[in-house]
Amino acid sequence: MAQRVAVSDGGNKKTSRVRVAVRLRPYMSIPDEKDEGPCVRGLDSQNLEIINWRNATETVKYHFDVFHGEQTTQQEVFLTSVKPILPHILNGQNASVFAYGPTGAGKTHTMLGSAKEPGVIPRAVREVFNLVKAKDEGEEWDYKIGMSYLEIYNEKVLDLLSPNSQDLPIREDKDKNILIPGLTHTIITSFLDFDKHFVPATLNRTTASTKLNQRSSRSHAILLIKVVRTRRVPPQRQQTGKLYLVDLAGSEDNRRTGNQGIRLKESGAINLSLFTLSKVVDSLNSGSAVRVPYRDSKLTRLLQDSLGGSAHSVMITNIAPEYKYYFDTFSALNFAAKSKLIVNKPFTRETVAVPVLPVKRAREEHEATGSGT
Ligand code: ADP
Ligand code: MG
Repeated sequence: MAQRVAVSDGGNKKTSRVRVAVRLRPYMSIPDEKDEGPCVRGLDSQNLEIINWRNATETVKYHFDVFHGEQTTQQEVFLTSVKPILPHILNGQNASVFAYGPTGAGKTHTMLGSAKEPGVIPRAVREVFNLVKAKDEGEEWDYKIGMSYLEIYNEKVLDLLSPNSQDLPIREDKDKNILIPGLTHTIITSFLDFDKHFVPATLNRTTASTKLNQRSSRSHAILLIKVVRTRRVPPQRQQTGKLYLVDLAGSEDNRRTGNQGIRLKESGAINLSLFTLSKVVDSLNSGSAVRVPYRDSKLTRLLQDSLGGSAHSVMITNIAPEYKYYFDTFSALNFAAKSKLIVNKPFTRETVAVPVLPVKRAREEHEATGSGT
């Protein structure tokens, strides 16, 4: 009989930060729209700037753990932001990767990608199998990999591997592990095996979404990869590591909020889980003594044992460079950076020349020379 070992840090309340990466997708000009050019651009591997709408002669600069520019490949995103955390789930630790950002900014491209440009999910699953394979020989542990796939929509938890499922309850066991009784959990033995279950479930979700009024932009798609390892010799100790890979709902519900709490609260009602996630990440990264509000939404409750605490988490904030996304981009960056502000003071505002607005600059130079009327 296998003996369960609680994976905890012995009562140590230290919580780990959520690493924040930002990925800017390439500019996609639409033929029948006036081409205004990008309103945001990268500066280097950690910094970017966006035009300040209050004063176009200024840009607002942001600093992040990682900035992925529009030329960044799927491979680079995976290597920099995801691969390093994967070994932990073989050691009974938990991890989570989120794609955040407005609809159209590249969340699904980042997480799922395409056959030609596979994203984080297929790469991570392959890597988990590779890591287990590399360990198996001569190790004292046996490894088993399993998957679950679910969706949170309107605060309902739905099993994507069991098409007609009802809203499922989220529970916590005595070791503070979060679980969903009744959720399909399928053992997978290879990447092909994973694909066999994952692809049809993803297709189902996409088809349903076009019928159900943009459902895919309002729901959170959550893939769970679970690695259970069991000691070969008695007592057969067992450790479980969980990896959550999450394509979040579109953040545009928070549109035009700036940093104002009241507006955020209104939009929070539109997507409670996304709103609560932002509070949880904020609370973890500011290291404040306040209670981390995991229990305030389904998403954060589900991720409670895999976000903060001893877990390894990364949030990839996807942004788009076109002007029509300007306010969504601004609010996504403010969400992503606000937590950093307290730690690193990343938010500096400075006046620079604005080469993308030559007319305006010409006028200012004119004024600066004192020859204005
Ligand atoms: P979201 O899931 O956030 O709504 P998508 O991933 O569907 O956004 O991306 C919107 C469009 O932009 C898609 O056509 C996608 O292929 C394209 N796209 C997104 N990110 C990139 C990128 N880094 N490189 C090339 N195309 C991208
Ligand atoms: Mg999407």
